[in-house]
Amino acid sequence: MRKLRCERWMRGSGWDGPSIFELDEAGRIASITPARGDETVDETIDGLVLPGMPNVHGHAFQRALAGFVEDGDPGAHDSFWTWRTRMYRLALQLAPEDVEAIAAQLYVEALEAGYTSMGEFHYVHHDPEGRPYADRAELAARILAAAAETGVGLCLLPVPYLAGGFDQPPRPEQRRFVHADPDDFLETWAAIRARLAPDQRLGIAPHSLRAVPPEAWAPLLGGVRAVDPDAPIHVHAAEQTAEVEACLGRLGARPVRWLLDTIGVDARWCLVHATHLDGGEIEGLARSEAVVGLCPTTEANLGDGIFPAEAFLRAGGRVAIGSDSHVIVDPAEELRLIEMAQRLITRRRLVLALGPAGTRVHVGAALWRAAARGGAQALGLPAGALEVGHRADLIVLDPSHPHLVAHGPDAAVDALVFAGPRGAIRDVMVAGRWRVRGGRHPAREAVASRYAACLRRCAAAFD
Ligand SMILES: [Zn+2]
Repeated sequence: MRKLRCERWMRGSGWDGPSIFELDEAGRIASITPARGDETVDETIDGLVLPGMPNVHGHAFQRALAGFVEDGDPGAHDSFWTWRTRMYRLALQLAPEDVEAIAAQLYVEALEAGYTSMGEFHYVHHDPEGRPYADRAELAARILAAAAETGVGLCLLPVPYLAGGFDQPPRPEQRRFVHADPDDFLETWAAIRARLAPDQRLGIAPHSLRAVPPEAWAPLLGGVRAVDPDAPIHVHAAEQTAEVEACLGRLGARPVRWLLDTIGVDARWCLVHATHLDGGEIEGLARSEAVVGLCPTTEANLGDGIFPAEAFLRAGGRVAIGSDSHVIVDPAEELRLIEMAQRLITRRRLVLALGPAGTRVHVGAALWRAAARGGAQALGLPAGALEVGHRADLIVLDPSHPHLVAHGPDAAVDALVFAGPRGAIRDVMVAGRWRVRGGRHPAREAVASRYAACLRRCAAAFD
């Protein structure tokens, strides 16, 4: 057992004073007791301690698109669908070592920004010709290796991608993503499962209603649940209005309504985006206890729309954050944008500071707590709050930072979220091991130089 003394740490509500955290061999919190002052401890943490933030949704290779997708013909109408064309061009030329180099760069940046676990919605499975690699888990293993090298927690979510759109065959440029049928996918899934480290989680992520036909859902989910009944299930849903219209036309229901009524959604599920919801879907999704994986910076970058966060949270809905295309890698910025978008459309402030009248709610701290807990649920990881039995996934804010020094603890988290103080996150621990000290990951330079070499090769895709 290791003993840490934490001077000030975040509870599910409120904060606690000096306490002794005992960590077991696996990096889980075995006990939390008030500090008496005479204990012998291995380490004292003097800054504010927060649960680390899970990042529930993203496609690691897309980090390499950042900055390459902000130009175009002013006479053309750029949108999600034109962005996707460039994304496919990048996906088609990645070698296995590129996948690993980009993921490692992403994970170093993510850890330094305060993310302690990642959900990888992994859909590039095959070689550039669209054939399975001799090892079907070749590319997934690169993601697992990057996570192991950098120390970030991981829930890998292999993606069945069976169709090119509603009732459309896959397109040639989707060939690296596509499996012939559920059995073909489950063979890949089993190969990936054999490669997991003990602390890595595996789920499944049917890509979307447009890429997975109705009859494929039962065999896919059944195949995974036969092995792990609690496996997390993620799906892209209702990101684009065009997708909602197509779904209404083909399946006779809006995407989230169809998932709720036809497939059945519960606490194992994470619906990614869920941007376009009607009132009944908001209520039904909140009641289902599924998590909505919001990716505000990517949703803004792609012009998707604004999630009805106020109505959903008032209905008791659960949320988490992801960075999806990883155009920005910063949990504070994702949380800020959730609240800021609500302010811009309602012309009010503190829109998501929900609670009884007469109380005082810090909206930044409230969002941090909610997204950390929802994120851990979505990734199926024992984390998201500093509690006995949970993994010691935590971040430490620098108490001497000029933008935090005069703040109470909740106000310091508000400052982190809304003021973006550079360098405020000093240390980051995952499963009891320090991965970032003094704002730096020890492999930062080595990982960045591999990434730079990869990016110089990949940039040819955007000429
Ligand atoms: Zn996505």
